[in-house]
Amino acid sequence: MVSPGTVTSVLGPVDPADWGPTDCHGHLFIQRGLPVELEPDFLLDDVEAAVRETTAMREAGGRVVVDCMPIGVGRDVDGLTAVARRTGTVVIASTGFHRARYYPADHWVRRYDTDRIAEIVVAEWTDGIGRSRTRPGVVKVATTGDVPTPVEAKLLVAVGLAAAETGLPVITHTDSFPAALHQLDVLERHGVAPERVILSHMDRHCDADQLAEACARGATVCLDWLGRLDRRPDEVAVELTRGVVERGHGDRVVLGQDLARRQYWENYGGGPGLAHLFRTVVPKLAAHGLGPSEVEAIMVENPRRAYGHA
Ligand SMILES: [Zn+2]
Repeated sequence: MVSPGTVTSVLGPVDPADWGPTDCHGHLFIQRGLPVELEPDFLLDDVEAAVRETTAMREAGGRVVVDCMPIGVGRDVDGLTAVARRTGTVVIASTGFHRARYYPADHWVRRYDTDRIAEIVVAEWTDGIGRSRTRPGVVKVATTGDVPTPVEAKLLVAVGLAAAETGLPVITHTDSFPAALHQLDVLERHGVAPERVILSHMDRHCDADQLAEACARGATVCLDWLGRLDRRPDEVAVELTRGVVERGHGDRVVLGQDLARRQYWENYGGGPGLAHLFRTVVPKLAAHGLGPSEVEAIMVENPRRAYGHA
């Protein structure tokens, strides 16, 4: 058992003195598996590259990264632990599941029933992940489109049961606003209050009113399409952040940079790199009218509360 509010990193319970500005939906490693087979640019396999990239992130002010690769899709807990040890960064690992399309046809997520899947997630918390004994700090779950696929619907229930039992927070992949509300409904029905849920990717498909509605239910909205400058300017997420704050929910919004491609890492020959959120986006929050206490809430306090144990 851990006391309420404690955050669990790959090195154990987080000392509050180590906490700071947080990338709430990040990626440090994606080892080989079906996602990399489908998209070779997803391969993030080099510990030295991750250490250098994370060191640059720290120099820009970043202190915490949540790695959002869960069970069976290229998660690398030993790599995460190495980065945490060598850089002094708080690194949070995920248990749980990604979208169904990332699991091979013969994977157990497709065969096992809800209770058995929930037991596997609970065991990652109680015993640690594999031989490493490293504990996850969050449970991931993903649904595709507005309505989950049958496998995803099963995994969503299993994650709800596991989070209710372990007290871990939940981070979700959302494809739409209705999907996000559906996730909150199902998780709540299985004992996970919206206050324990972080909804990722909400800036891809929501306007500020919809974000505020999700916050009003108690969920934390994660705006994480930052740094994908080939697809969208950062100002879109920055303006949405301001919109959430103006609607009275500055305590429920967090930021991330879902830079899960080699092309976005300086140490794989691309950019803008993992320092981007702290070096470039945080100053933009102030330039778009957010005050220091509002920025502190978004970058530091809200993530700490969202990733704390029930
Ligand atoms: Zn991601």
